[in-house]
Order: sequence, then C-alpha cells, then structure tokens
Amino acid sequence: MKALLVEQNDNKLSTNVQNIDEKILPIHDVIVDIHYSTLNYKDGLAITGKGKILRQFPMVPGIDFSGVVHHTEDPRFHIGQHVLLTGWGVGENHWGGLAQKAGVKGDWLTVVPEGLSLKNAMIIGTAGFTAMLCVMALEQGGITPESGDILVTGASGGVGSTAISLLTALGYQVTALSGRASNHDYLRKLGAKNIITREEFEPAGRALDKQRWAGAIDTVGGQILANILSQTNYNGTVAACGLAGGFSLPTTVMPFILRNVRLQGVDSVYFPAEKRAQVWQRLLKLLPETFYQQAMTEITLDEVPRYAQMIMDNQVTGRTLVKL
Ligand code: NDP
Repeated sequence: MKALLVEQNDNKLSTNVQNIDEKILPIHDVIVDIHYSTLNYKDGLAITGKGKILRQFPMVPGIDFSGVVHHTEDPRFHIGQHVLLTGWGVGENHWGGLAQKAGVKGDWLTVVPEGLSLKNAMIIGTAGFTAMLCVMALEQGGITPESGDILVTGASGGVGSTAISLLTALGYQVTALSGRASNHDYLRKLGAKNIITREEFEPAGRALDKQRWAGAIDTVGGQILANILSQTNYNGTVAACGLAGGFSLPTTVMPFILRNVRLQGVDSVYFPAEKRAQVWQRLLKLLPETFYQQAMTEITLDEVPRYAQMIMDNQVTGRTLVKL
C-alpha cells in the first residue's frame, strides 16, 4: 500500500510517499480501504513540523479519512461498509489517513450516513464536523437567527467556509472576517452578507467596545478573539475552536462579568462517539450541493507535502481533499 510516512532522523523530519507492507499497520481491529483523506490545519502543522503534533516515528499523518471496511474483528462493522473517521489522535499518535489503508479501533469509526458519498464526507471532514459543533455551541447559547449578526473568522479556511455555509442554511446573517481580499467573491457565494478585513479588525481595541455580534465562530484566537469578546452583545456566545492566528488570549473579564458573554470552547477530537451520528446527519441535511463544489480542491498523495506548506502559508482556500 502507498502511504505518506513521516520519519525523524537527527531531530529532522523527512516526509515521503512509500510503498509499505500493510502487515505492519500497528492496529488491526478494523482495516479500512481509504478512498479520501484531507489536509487540515493540524495536518499542515504535523507534516511541516511547524507544530509538535507527531511524537512517535515513523508516523502516517492524516487526522481524518473515509473509506470501505476491508477486514473487521469488531462485530459492529461488516466488510464493504462505508465508514469515516475524524479525531481520536489518529494521524497524531496512531497511523492516520494519508495512506491507502488504515488499521483503527472500531470505537473511532462513524458509519457514513446514507445519502452522503465518501467524497462529500471528506469535503466536510474534521473541519466541517468542527464547524457544525461550533454552530451547535451557538444554538446551545440561545443564539437564533433573530439574535443578530454572527462573525466567522478564518473565513476562507476549512472550518470557516463550512461554518458560513451552515449558518446561512440555518437563516443566520453572517459576517466573514478574512485576511484575503482575493476571496471576497468566494465568501459571498458561500453566503456571507458582509466581509471585514483582518487588517481593520486586528488592532487591539478597548476592554468593552461597541456591541456588534450576537455570536461568533472563531478559528484564529489571539487578539482577534479578544476583540470579538469585547464587541459581543449582551448574552452573546462565542465558540472558539482554533489558533490559526496564535494561542494567546489577551482579554479581560469585562465582557463576561458586565455583558454575560459566554466563551464556549469546542473540541472535535474527543467529542463523544455516541453523539457523532446526529452531528453528521445535520451536516448532510444542511449543506447545499453547491458547497461541495465551491469549497474543495482535490490533490494526490504526492502533492500533500507541498499543500501542507501552503496551508501554513495561508495560501489554501476551503477544503483540500486527498484522493488515495
Ligand atoms: P485552514 O488553514 O483551512 O483555515 C485557517 C484560516 O485562518 C485561513 O484560511 C485564514 O483565513 C485564517 N488565518 C490564517 N493565518 C492567520 C493568521 N495569522 N491570523 C489570522 N487568521 C489567519 O484551517 P482549518 O479551517 O482546518 O482550521 C482552523 C483552525 O481551527 C486551526 O487553528 C485548527 O487547528 C483549528 N481546528 C480545531 C479543531 C478542534 O477540534 N478544536 C478541529 C479543526 C480545526 P483568511 O485568509 O480568510 O483570513
């Protein structure tokens, strides 16, 4: 089988597509023939070595995949079944999706819902799954389309693009925050009603600023998240899932104690298995057919290292699908 293998020698990472014997797959509970994997920001950090994501070598990166069950020792699955995987440390601590086969635990797999192709499942992938969790965090905070504008940051990225589409489908009015003027048309096609630039939004504001947002989905962190909090309406909710702009949070308690603002963290990796099917059902129902064409670039395994660098350099728009 072909696999992207990251190896470490003398503290230096090397990444190559190799032909390896599938017998050396570390786990054999369920073996999946992978059809699609994707490149997420975390994969970019892992493959370029910019983030300390991989701690064991050699490692097959790839935090998500969809495919067909090839062999199973887990009675909950059968050969030929369509399955997908996001999270659980796969592609970080366990061999991941950037290979033609993966061996994983049955507990980590989700059955692909009927009506969703293996390809579309991965156009959604970890990013889309996370975007849905963020939207649900706003709903749990009581934010409805009538509450007011929702700000989505890192708008051109995988999570941001999917969040815009999902919120639009639910009737919310979305403002997209993007660092790239070249993507404004793309963001409007996804449904964004307004666009603000990273440049105009990023300078540090006051601890409490003019109230502008009923809610926000933030994928970038840092000063941008701090500014969002200080501009969030009374009783607003901010769902924070990412750190594309940095992991700091230079804020104050003022939005929380004077405006009842809720900051809800979102993690997709260890989101409980038993609740995942309903999240995928919602994604299937809400995302319009146009989303899958607009927000996707398909690449081969050989192109992954180059695209991993591009995702770090903020040159990738939407989702990057890897065909195995
Ligand atoms: P992408 O690379 O696809 O998107 C990130 C976007 O952030 C870019 O497209 C860009 O949008 C913006 N951006 C890039 N660099 C900066 C910067 N320096 N400052 C501000 N904005 C920047 O990544 P994903 O959508 O896959 O992931 C987004 C974030 O969410 C990542 O931090 C990722 O680790 C995190 N994440 C977390 C998950 C969880 O479970 N908590 C799951 C999935 C992702 P634009 O050009 O439009 O400004």
